Order: sequence, then C-alpha cells, then structure tokens
Amino acid sequence: MDPQMQQDLLKLFRSKLDRNMRLYLETCTRCGVCTEACHVYASLGQTRYLAAYRHELVRRIYKKYFKTRGKWWPSLGEAKELSAGALDELKEAAYSCTGCRRCMVYCPFGIDTQMILSIAKLLLIGAHTEPEILTMLADMSVAKGESLELFKESYKTGMKNLEAEVLKKWKSEAGRTAIPIDVPGADLLYVALAGAHSIVPAAAVFNAAKENWTQSFFEAVNFGAFVGDPLKTKLIMDRIVNEAKRLQVKEICICECGTAFRIMKQWAAKQPFKVSSITEVQARYLREGRIQLDHKTINGPVTYHDPCQIARNGGVIDEPRAILRQLANDFREMAPEPQYNWFCGGGGGLVALGEENLDFRMKSSRVKADQIKATGAKVLVTACENCHSQLNHLNDHYKLGVEVKFLSSLVADALVP
Ligand code: SF4
Ligand code: SF4
Repeated sequence: MDPQMQQDLLKLFRSKLDRNMRLYLETCTRCGVCTEACHVYASLGQTRYLAAYRHELVRRIYKKYFKTRGKWWPSLGEAKELSAGALDELKEAAYSCTGCRRCMVYCPFGIDTQMILSIAKLLLIGAHTEPEILTMLADMSVAKGESLELFKESYKTGMKNLEAEVLKKWKSEAGRTAIPIDVPGADLLYVALAGAHSIVPAAAVFNAAKENWTQSFFEAVNFGAFVGDPLKTKLIMDRIVNEAKRLQVKEICICECGTAFRIMKQWAAKQPFKVSSITEVQARYLREGRIQLDHKTINGPVTYHDPCQIARNGGVIDEPRAILRQLANDFREMAPEPQYNWFCGGGGGLVALGEENLDFRMKSSRVKADQIKATGAKVLVTACENCHSQLNHLNDHYKLGVEVKFLSSLVADALVP
C-alpha cells in the first residue's frame, strides 16, 4: 500500500479511538462465549464469521500501530500490517456483519463488535473500497437534503394523491387534510420511508387518534449509517433534527425502519424533543384509549419478528406484543426470547446491496428461517422495512408458507371508526 494512503488511513483509525473503543479493543479474552452468537457463523459454520474473529482483524492493526509491544515485537503482539490484503479481510468482515449486536449480549464484557467494525468501515471508505452502491445512495440522500426547495411542491402533490387512501383506512372525516405537511407547532413529526405503505397506514392511525401531527419532507432511511460514514450519517440526520426544531415539535416518530430509529434515538438524546418508533406511538394510543381496534382480526397462528435495532438495540419489546395481543387470537413467541432473537440477516445495508448478495443473505440466515418455522405461524409480523424485505425473501427461499405483514398496517386495517 502507498505509504501516504497508509498514513491517511491510520489517521482515520486514530480518530475512532475514544475511551470506549480502546476498552473494546483491549478487553477480549477469546473466551469463546460468543462463538454461536452470530447468525452468519451459526448458519454457515465458517470461522471468518465468528464475532471474535471479525474484531480480531481490527485489533491486530490496532496492536501494530497503537501499542508499544506490537510496534517493536509484532510477532509477539500478534500485530498486523495495514495492507491491501488486510483491507480485503476487513471488507469481508465488516459488510457481512449486520450490526445486530447479538454477540454483544452474549459477551461477558459487552464488547460491541459492530462498534469495532465501524473502524473497518471507515478505513474502507478512506481507501474507496466500500460497497459503491451504499455510498451512491448516501450521496443521493445528502444531495436531496441540500435541494429541498426543488422538490417540496412535487412532494406535497404526491401526498395529496395519497389522501383518498388514508381516508379509506381512517374511515372518517372526509374533507380534512389527511396528510398534513410542514405544520409549525405540531406535536409530532412523522418521518416515513418512500412509498405509500410507509405513509398511508401511519397517517390513518394518527388521524384516528386525533394527533396534532405533521409529515416530514425527508425520508427516514440513513444510507450514511449503512455504509458506515459518520459524516454523511450526521448530514442525513441533521436535516430531520433541524426540521423538528424549525417546526418546534415535541416528538419525532420514526416509521418502521430499525436503523433510522436507533441512530435518531441515540443522536437526538439531548434534543428538545423525544424520539419514538411508530410501534411505541401506536401502543400508546391503544393504552390511552385514543384508538380502538377490531379485536382478533388475525385468525390462525401469528408470530412477531423483533427487528434488532428496535428491540435488542432500541428497547421496544413490550409494545408490539401489546398490540398483537389485541389483534391475534393465537400469538406465538419465537424462541429464544427477544433479547436473543436471531437477526433476520438483511440489515446493516445488506438488503440495499440487492441481488449481488442475495445468495449470501439466504444462506447466512438459515437459523432465522428455522426459528420462524418452529413457531408454526402462518402470519409473520414485523416493524422494519429491511426485515420485511429479508423475511419475504426467506419465506420464498425456505418455503416457510407465511404471510409477512407490517405491524402498523395491521393496526390501520383494524381501526374502528
Ligand atoms: S453484530 Fe451481529 S452480525 Fe455482527 S458479528 Fe455480532 S452477531 Fe454477527
Ligand atoms: S465473548 Fe467477548 S471476550 Fe469472549 S471471545 Fe467473544 S468478544 Fe471476546
């Protein structure tokens, strides 16, 4: 590798070395407790997919350049040169890790593999060897944020065209604005994904609950986070934060997108508004009696897939169950329980990589398919776009015979006028 490039990459490496990161890099005892934790390893049985093996690749470079023993006695310190070959290994490790953090709940020291692999992603971005499509999508998203004025009117027209569908689900109050946009002083700012499926059911439920809400101009998805670029992640997130401040809302509600919810919740922790997932908001409406649902509208066995970024990493576990208990007459939990739930295998940008990694996604998620099959469910519900796509692919690939549904759309369909 060109020495200048190496220096530049090491500078990026150093920028990630805060106290927590150093602790993660220096604590692993190779106890092996996390061996079976990663769905990729559990499904494929290849050593390179062990959580500890993945972060060892980063740790060896850390030892070589940031620890005295590794600098002077590399073989003793198991240190490794930062080379083109090392980057190839990092790429395989980083972009096959979905950031589900299942390994973290097994590790007695709580070592965060995803966090360690964020170093690998930063180095790959620095060397321009990250998956090109993810950077392209992140750039498009940033550019859209920069030219908001250009697309405002067409966005409003698009929303107007969806109003009839919202009124049909809401079953009420024709003539009122069904999808309010850009309303200063609204209590809640809803941030959706592109597509009517992310907007119509949510709007129907907000209206039924008589929420003082407004729709965001921006999409929730954050491709900056998928590719692992902290600068782009922040740029994409800031535009929503700024919109929330400008409108002076009290709450940002993130649609069914796990990564968008987790990063917004972490990032906006010190902002003057709270961040909720759509599932939390809908469960709250039910609790407070602001919406009524037609009970037991789903017949037959139903199970729920906990999106990692919403449940294990976001703490939203009871709310979807409270909703489903009203809607289903035969709700079946997956085993193991939500905190240890197998990841779907599609997050961390893997679904966005498209056909190119479909085969890997299917094979590396065999344990998830087995977990679903064991419930005997005919309806599989989830609350994340990535999970929904991946579960549909798993359904086809493993012939699971389930119907995959979004939770928010089941809620909207069961609204009692
Ligand atoms: S975060 Fe998830 S995908 Fe990544 S190594 Fe850990 S268990 Fe595997
Ligand atoms: S469980 Fe923790 S300490 Fe043990 S090998 Fe895995 S990451 Fe290292």
